[in-house]
Amino acid sequence: MARVLAADIGGTNLRLALIDDSGLFIDECRVEANLSRHNQNTREDAENYILNSLCDAISPFQKKNPVSGIGIGFPGFFRGPTGILAASPNLPLLNEFALGQRLSERLGIRVAIQNDALCAAIGEQRFGAGQGHENLLHITLGTGVGGGLILNGSPYTGERGMAMEFGHLRVVHKHGRSCGCGNSGCLEAYASATAVSLLFTEKTGINADARVVYEQACDGNKDAALILKKSGLYLGQAIAEAVKLLDIETVTVSGGLSHAWHLIHPPLMAELNDNLIPPLRGKVSVIQSTLGDNAGLLGAAAIASRS
Ligand SMILES: [Zn+2]
Repeated sequence: MARVLAADIGGTNLRLALIDDSGLFIDECRVEANLSRHNQNTREDAENYILNSLCDAISPFQKKNPVSGIGIGFPGFFRGPTGILAASPNLPLLNEFALGQRLSERLGIRVAIQNDALCAAIGEQRFGAGQGHENLLHITLGTGVGGGLILNGSPYTGERGMAMEFGHLRVVHKHGRSCGCGNSGCLEAYASATAVSLLFTEKTGINADARVVYEQACDGNKDAALILKKSGLYLGQAIAEAVKLLDIETVTVSGGLSHAWHLIHPPLMAELNDNLIPPLRGKVSVIQSTLGDNAGLLGAAAIASRS
């Protein structure tokens, strides 16, 4: 059975796994690597920094586990399946960089690389709650809000890999909260784990991450419950806009905030159906991921075995 090496690049660390064709994890590890912490001034420095960081993290695991290919989920925008990084918010010097090819040359093996949220969508469709669906919208509710789209069985990236910037759909049009993208009123400013934590601190003066906010809501804290309810409402509103464009029946959701599913799902569905056009009401399922944090790694494994 063919085995591939899958990597999922996070903000401060990198997860690696040896995965077989059936999606079984044979080995895995976590390596510290902060890929946005670079202060290089030239493109060449930035290229060397990213290539060295990734190769240093991946090489030891690769030597221990011979594989037929490597797949990587990366926080950036890629031109289709080419491995060309069109842009990355954390690495502004690396526009139009052939990251997949350069890594392949360094590591001496085929490397497939794609946007991390899109990898999660691919993983969910191949191995998780999206199985059997030719069309799937997958949403990740983590530090930010990401989206990945599968259309007619194929990942859809857009012209520059920037399709489904779901977190930056505008859900509040007047006096919206500022978003990291430079706009205001974006979904990410209300429905990411980061936003939930921030909203709770602003309201109560208590520092708490999204998991604690969820626990507080379960314990009867009305402020925490209202913040999570509003996250669900805004998610429902944004999903309705996507469904009106795409006529998709299945949406899956993963990421830290999805653990609060029983609190966000009811308001989400109510708002979704309120905002859909009548023929679509009641036709859309929004399902919690069955893969959780492993969706991205499994999607990376899937693109490695396809390439
Ligand atoms: Zn935004």
